[in-house]
Amino acid sequence: MSLNWSPTGSSQPQTIAYFSMEIGLDAAMPTYSGGLGILAGDTLRAAADLGVSMVAMTLVHRKGYFRQHLDASGNQTESPYAWSPERVLEPVAQQVTVEIEGRPVRVRAWRATVTGAGGATVPAYFLDTSDPANSPFDRSITDMLYGGDQHTRLCQEAVLGIGGAMLLRAMGYTALQTYHMNEGHSSLLALALLEAAGVAPGSAPAAGVAAQVRAKCVFTTHTPIPAGHDRFPWALVRQVLGEARTRTLEATGASTEGVLNMTALGLFFSRFVNGVSQRHQDVAQAMFPDHHIAYVTNGVHGATWVAPAMQRVLDRHVPGWRRDNQALRTASRIPLEELVGAHGEAKQALLAEVQRRSGIAMDPNAIVLGFARRSTPYKRADLLFQDMDRLFRIAREEGPVQILYGGKAHPHDGGGKELIRKVHRAAEQAGANPRVVYLEEYDIALAKLLVSGVDIWLNTPQRPLEASGTSGMKAALNGVPNLSVLDGWWVEGHVEGVTGWAIGGPVAEDDGGAGDAASLYHKLEHAVLPAYYHHVTDFARMMRSSIAINGAYFNAHRMVTQYAGQAYRPAAQAEAAA
Ligand SMILES: *Cc1c(COP(=O)(O)O)cnc(C)c1O
Repeated sequence: MSLNWSPTGSSQPQTIAYFSMEIGLDAAMPTYSGGLGILAGDTLRAAADLGVSMVAMTLVHRKGYFRQHLDASGNQTESPYAWSPERVLEPVAQQVTVEIEGRPVRVRAWRATVTGAGGATVPAYFLDTSDPANSPFDRSITDMLYGGDQHTRLCQEAVLGIGGAMLLRAMGYTALQTYHMNEGHSSLLALALLEAAGVAPGSAPAAGVAAQVRAKCVFTTHTPIPAGHDRFPWALVRQVLGEARTRTLEATGASTEGVLNMTALGLFFSRFVNGVSQRHQDVAQAMFPDHHIAYVTNGVHGATWVAPAMQRVLDRHVPGWRRDNQALRTASRIPLEELVGAHGEAKQALLAEVQRRSGIAMDPNAIVLGFARRSTPYKRADLLFQDMDRLFRIAREEGPVQILYGGKAHPHDGGGKELIRKVHRAAEQAGANPRVVYLEEYDIALAKLLVSGVDIWLNTPQRPLEASGTSGMKAALNGVPNLSVLDGWWVEGHVEGVTGWAIGGPVAEDDGGAGDAASLYHKLEHAVLPAYYHHVTDFARMMRSSIAINGAYFNAHRMVTQYAGQAYRPAAQAEAAA
């Protein structure tokens, strides 16, 4: 990826505007918190590879998400993660003014340019209110991702949805046909589009105007967790957006539950709505019975997530994989020794980083399991430690076990923070076998090392709360089999003993995780460790199948191609085809 603007890159006008509260493009730009932002970054990279005419809008988050500090007991504290967009991004000449609490707030932007494998580009704009003309509070609106209270969040969403739409117009993006809202944080975009279509301040949009806006918008919902859906009291909306805009929002009838529900607003004004896996489609359809919910299963960007040694192997044996990851279907041609050798290099790189950070020298000849993602209760990072005696026995009898953990808890997520402490307690109890290490500051750079360098990628979410999950896909593209609860993408990607192993059955049990823990121990003892330590060739075949079967499908090229076919066709075309 290049962060430099190359005005010669793209010749056709952008027709798709992608709005997301977080976009993760680079470890040096802390503008993401987890899967949602990483997915947005991978979407832009894949669009650039495929020459899809897209432009993206997000906030600059000058103080980042946060830096994570863990003490010896696993207590997490946070500090701001300041970065300087002026060092790596291009300034944009145009500025706009968004009215917030009656004050004119000046909004400018920085441009990153994502360049695809064939040279096409996708510009991404990072909105910034840190203008000296703004009040100290207004300057701080675009400082911290998910950092403030509800009031700050609503101000951020006004900058993203309203400011973003205004800036696109000011920059001359006049050919936009589709606005893609990646989650509800950008739903105020619908209000900006209503105003642009001539709805007078304070008045109700005529049915025809609402339909016009609906013909332009598509919406992706990403989580069944209620906290993932913003709800703002109308009094707060009045305070931040003013009486006229609030009256218009109320008059749309989009949000009927006594608050402004940003998901309801986005859904109401979208011609196409999707969940992010087949399983999540069912869950989202039950949550939003008034809307038809489609699904586009998430995918990851191969050239971003595959380790350098494995990239060289793919370049030799899978021509064309960079332009279209779906070519990985032919990965069964890769000689097993080359695949195993490349994985060994990735494992060495990971273990060297583990030693540098923790002082612990892990054994490259012993299995390493990886578990890294946002630390939050439904992800159940502690499932592996439900029965320590059993874990000790398995590690003693079947072969040494090493496990690497990583992940930040949101500063207000007490349950997520407690999980980090629990893993630390388990690590202390475990000692040298099983060896458990929790790595600080999980970010894009560490994720690249982990998903490629471990031998097994572990995931233990509480069904059906993992809408998709993407880190297991990154592992699959690196030839790392998954050991996972059947939720999210793994429902589609799991072939037992071929691409990995399932933990538990398809349906959640109400047993506090006891059944899933028992299944996890059973699979480790009778399938995973025997395969790794005693059936080396079978294990290598599973590594290769992970690439050929899952890498070929759970990639962002397939995902963006599906969005182009289902979601991005202009409304008239979509209706004609229906
Ligand atoms: C891929 C990724 C995630 C998402 O992981 P899930 O397992 O899908 O929750 C989160 N954080 C980082 C840094 C990632 O690279």
